[in-house]
Amino acid sequence: MRMFDTHCHLALLYQDPIEQIRVIDDAKRSGVICLANISTNLLDFNSSYRNTKNILNIYHTVGLSPSEVNNPGKDWESKLEEALSMHGVVGVGEIGLDYFHKYGDRNAQIEFFIRQLEIASNMNLPVTIHNRQAGEDMKNILRTKISHGGIMHCFSEDIEFAKEMINLGLYISFAGNLTYRNAKNLHKVAKEVPIEYLLIETDSPFLTPHGFRGKRNQPAYMSDTLNFLAELREMKVEELAEILFQNSLKVFKIKDIK
Ligand SMILES: [Zn+2]
Repeated sequence: MRMFDTHCHLALLYQDPIEQIRVIDDAKRSGVICLANISTNLLDFNSSYRNTKNILNIYHTVGLSPSEVNNPGKDWESKLEEALSMHGVVGVGEIGLDYFHKYGDRNAQIEFFIRQLEIASNMNLPVTIHNRQAGEDMKNILRTKISHGGIMHCFSEDIEFAKEMINLGLYISFAGNLTYRNAKNLHKVAKEVPIEYLLIETDSPFLTPHGFRGKRNQPAYMSDTLNFLAELREMKVEELAEILFQNSLKVFKIKDIK
């Protein structure tokens, strides 16, 4: 059985290169043979990319998350484009809108998000999107600004929202919080999302799945979310794992894995 963690943050897990490589080794031993290392700013991208770029089947995305809106740094757009053109970089993200944390005003977040969607579009890249309490603005923006598909990561909205996103070419990804007993609404959505648009992720170091509670999340813990989802959808784990693996390759346009 092989798995693909479509969203983990190596630089937030550890800054130390040896620890980052250990996380990847542990993941591979657990069956997570591919992962997407998501960077939320250029500094984290530069360090984690340098540390892990030569490891087989490790992919990267980079974008400036809403937390960076007030301080993206000098020449951030050209630096982002440069990062996005590097080998093994498969998408823009995470980028998005976060009205929960109030990182700067709404208009500034929207403008910052749209600018990066345009960069993704110009470079023919999929996007990894963060959405927290910004559903309406998110829908309105994506209706005209999405062009090469991508992922609604750590999905938290309802099935109608999921269907709208799927119509725009986006995949719906569930993180470890899917396994929480009180996440009844999420369970319902995860059961109904068409399987060809379904993905899973860890979002590590955040959102540790129920089976590993008390520990800091890491890609090696993704099987807990997979098992939970298989039970929810009444499928064989192996069968679901392979479908999700293929979906992951598809969304990131990865042709061959070694
Ligand atoms: Zn994330």
